[in-house]
Parts: sequence; C-alpha cells; structure tokens
Amino acid sequence: MAQRPRGTRDFLPDEMERRRHYEGVLRRRAETFGFREISTPIFEETELFVARSGPNIVEELYAFEDKGGRGISLRPELTAPAIRLYVNGMSNDPKPVKAFYFGQCFRYERPQSGRYREFFQFGAELIGGSGPESDAEVIALAAAMVRDLGLKNYKVRLGHIGVLRDRLASVGIPGDGMAEILQKLDKKAFDEARPILESRGVGDADIESIFGLVSTVGGPEVLSAVPGEIGEYMGRVLALLDAMGVGDVEVDLGVVRGLDYYTGIVFEMEAPALGAEKQICGGGSYALAEVFGGEPVFTTGFAIGFDRILLAMEKEGLEHPRKALRAYIVPVSDDVRVEAARIVASLRDAGISADIDLMDRKMGRALKHASSVGAEKAVIVGAKELSQGVATVRDMESGEQSEVPLDCLVDHFLS
Ligand code: ATP
Ligand code: MG
Repeated sequence: MAQRPRGTRDFLPDEMERRRHYEGVLRRRAETFGFREISTPIFEETELFVARSGPNIVEELYAFEDKGGRGISLRPELTAPAIRLYVNGMSNDPKPVKAFYFGQCFRYERPQSGRYREFFQFGAELIGGSGPESDAEVIALAAAMVRDLGLKNYKVRLGHIGVLRDRLASVGIPGDGMAEILQKLDKKAFDEARPILESRGVGDADIESIFGLVSTVGGPEVLSAVPGEIGEYMGRVLALLDAMGVGDVEVDLGVVRGLDYYTGIVFEMEAPALGAEKQICGGGSYALAEVFGGEPVFTTGFAIGFDRILLAMEKEGLEHPRKALRAYIVPVSDDVRVEAARIVASLRDAGISADIDLMDRKMGRALKHASSVGAEKAVIVGAKELSQGVATVRDMESGEQSEVPLDCLVDHFLS
C-alpha cells in the first residue's frame, strides 16, 4: 500500500473542519487588529533562508536543485518570505505595514508528538512601526489569538535580547561572535555554553553572572535587575500590554531566540501540558529587511505553531461547534426524482447545506443514512404530497414531522 512520507499527516474531514474553524478564529482576530493577509510561495531560493538563519539551517531544509540548476528549498518558516515580499513589493506602503499569514512549513526534523516535517504556522509581522507601542501591539495580538481559541493553560514570557547582548559585550564578546553562545543560552545548555565562554577568556564569576541573568524569571519587579533604557522599555511594553488586557506576562531574561537579527523585545508562549514540545509561539523585534537588500526598518513579528496549539486545545478537551448538514432530501419513488433535484438545488442556492439520496435507497434506509451523516432534517418528497404542493419535513432528532409548502421550504430552513 502506498504510504505518506515520514513526518507528514493526512487530515480527514472531521479534523479539517476543526482546523478550518480555528484558523478562522485566528484570521478574524488578526483582522480586528488591522492586519491583512499575505501569501508567498511554498518554495523559495535556498539563499533566502541561509541569509536569515545562517548556513546550519540547510541541514533542516528540504533543499534541492531545480531543473535550471537553482538552489530551491521548501520554506521552513514564513518570516523570511514575508520580509522578502515586503522589500520586493510593499516597502513604499504607508507605515506601519501589518501583515499576517497562514501556511505550511517544511523542516527535516525527527518526527515526534508536536514535531512534524510538514506543519502549519500562523504568524504576523508589523513592519515600519517603532518602539514599545508596536511591540505591545504584536504581543497583544498573539495573546488575543490564543485567548480566542479558548486555551486556558498557557504562559506569555517576555525578554529583551539587548540585556544579554550588552552583558556579553561587557565581557569582551564581539557582536558577530555572539550567535553561537546565544543559541546555547536559548536552550539553557549551560554545559555547552561554558567551554565556549571560557575559550573566549571569560572568567568564572562573569560566566556565573551571565547564567544567572539567563535564569532570571518573575513579575515586573524582576525588571529592577535590568538597568537603564532596556528596563524602562520593557516596563513600558508591560504597561501597554496590561492596558490591552494581557496582564499575566512573565518577565524572563532567558528568552533568547537564537538568531542574530533579533534586536530588542523577544517573547514566547508555551502550553506546559505539551511537555517537551511546549512552545506554541515565538517572536520578537528584528532587523531583517536590510539582509534582503531593503532599507532598515523596525519590525516585530511572531509565528504560532498551529498544530501544537491544536494539540494543547485537545488536551484541554476544547470542542469546536460542528457544521451540521441542514437537510437531506429523500425521494420516495423514481417519478419524483426530478422534482427532488429541483428542491435540493433551491435549498443549496439559498446557502443551506443540503444533500440528496444518490443510491436509490428505500425510504427507511435513506432516513437511516440521513441520521448517520448527521442531517438535522429530512425532506421527504412523495408523489401525493407533491401534487398538493407540499413536502414532509422530519426533524431527525425528535422524529416530529410536518408538511411544508414547497414555496416555503427555503424560509423554513432560514428561520
Ligand atoms: P522548537 O524549539 O520547538 O524547535 P523553533 O524555535 O524551531 O521551535 P520557530 O522557528 O520559532 O520554532 O517556529 C515557531 C513555532 O512553530 C514554534 O513555537 C512551534 O510551535 C512551531 N514549530 C516549529 N517547528 C515545528 C515542527 N517541526 N512541527 C510542528 N510545529 C513546529
Ligand atoms: Mg526547531
């Protein structure tokens, strides 16, 4: 039997209905914040992702050469494509540009629960804003989205990459030598960070204080450990978030987000119930446009791991409203099939979901089928009733039946 590639999933109709419902919730929320949707190709030049994330990213990519000898990759994320699109076609738009996207990403990873080779991200970028108001706007959007989904147990953690960068600079690490260390600190891999810091001549006391900084977590009071402008900036973001209904934000100076181009605020959301793969959202403010040949521009964005968030919601037993089939048409005999076809068409054209027996079933079996596909009502079309201009409508749950004039059938379902 033919098999799916490893790390991919098929989605059956029930699951697709659930996914589309929640995708709609996220999309509507983004629109209430004034963000508008963009869409970019599933594949890009490999160089785009290397420019964003460094050469090591290639190990994670589905990368290949196309027939023209170009280096192409399936996209592993959507931030780089979104900023490329901004530089190509939106950089003259009125600022800030507020864009959101939803789409699949591909990473060659070891598949496990919450980690797939094809997965979906819902993300947003605010390009050309400035300062704490723009950061807060983006974080508030991410938080409102997760809240709208109905998830209860999650955390928002806020950090600022400047704190660690300043600290590393103060012990003599140059800016372009920080990435490797930041990536270790991001994973709290202190055992791996220590030898690197030692090899750069950083003393024990400084190393301990750096690890201490990365482990600093708490409420707004923790900001007293953050001197000067950065502490003030973070305090301002927290105040704005609080005003926008995002109160329970944890300050966590260990939120690092490994990549070089993060410049300021960084944040993550997690759903602890997911265990190891608990991170459901990552974001921050960054400088990427100039990497792709554009003018430098203040940008803040995030990406929500759609599949992971759905897993977390499943763990909390959240149910989406089901889409019911409103009407199932049962022609009682062959001579009414043309009239039954007219009836089903009139319901469908009025936007009412309606199905009709296509299997030549007898009435009893047709009604059984109607209930097994979850139809709300059956419309039984018989020759005698037709001649009187009516059809019999049966409520599938109560079994109650009534005769409804054919020209009132659409209204019957709309009211
Ligand atoms: P992780 O540390 O879990 O690998 P990441 O830092 O690689 O995450 P990002 O690149 O920030 O993740 O992507 C944003 C979000 O996309 C993550 O927070 C996560 O929810 C989701 N995500 C990342 N990789 C996968 C994957 N392979 N399968 C499913 N979801 C993923
Ligand atoms: Mg990863």
